Amino acid sequence: MIYLKSPAQIAAMKKSGAILRDLLCAIEERVKPGVSTKKLDEFAYEFITKHNAKPSFLGYGGFPASICASIDEVVVHGIPGHRRLEEGQIIGIDVGAVLDGWQSDAARTFAVGEISQEKRRLVDTTRESFFKGVEQFRQGGRLGDISHAIQQYNEERGFSVVRAMVGHGIGRKMHEDPQVPNFGSAGHGIKLEEGLVLAIEPMINLGTWQVKTLDDGWTCVTTDGKPSAHYENTVALTEHGTEILTL
Ligand code: MG
Repeated sequence: MIYLKSPAQIAAMKKSGAILRDLLCAIEERVKPGVSTKKLDEFAYEFITKHNAKPSFLGYGGFPASICASIDEVVVHGIPGHRRLEEGQIIGIDVGAVLDGWQSDAARTFAVGEISQEKRRLVDTTRESFFKGVEQFRQGGRLGDISHAIQQYNEERGFSVVRAMVGHGIGRKMHEDPQVPNFGSAGHGIKLEEGLVLAIEPMINLGTWQVKTLDDGWTCVTTDGKPSAHYENTVALTEHGTEILTL
């Protein structure tokens, strides 16, 4: 069931999204060698609650933290802990907030100090592919147009697209219909229409697209141990075109 949102509802989601936008900027400044992912998680919890919102990941399916912190070969769902960041790593920070009943969801991948050219290309391409997808989020288009644009942009540059996890509709619930794969065929899937709000989130690997979940039941890693990047925003389709609610 897809729930289309009214302009007033999208405005409410934008308030929720603004918290994540500001939080992720603040976290970027705190991503440095020696900082533990737990510290970043504590900062996120305080930031979100200080803004009268709730961290949507905390307790979701039993997840123990407010952010996912996914280092290098961890694709998504890394659990924050005492591990300290090291120069040359990349870290994906994924976070959700709920304000006045409205969810928002966003992720960035940050560099810890200086990173290799290979990782830089991966991070940049992942982010750029999100915007290629957003270009296709328009009335009269199909969901597959978004998926295809993201897949093509990454694969043309030699990267691979994770299949096991996808983006999603978002609103009163964090995960609503439809699913938004980062791979697919243009011209296929549901029609894109005003009021649709999607979390578009390319998860892109340097090596194989294949992933597995570790024994903790959460941490999702690449099977070849090569790095992975993630970039996500909550995006609404309005009568004026797309509006990115978390940027
Ligand atoms: Mg998401």
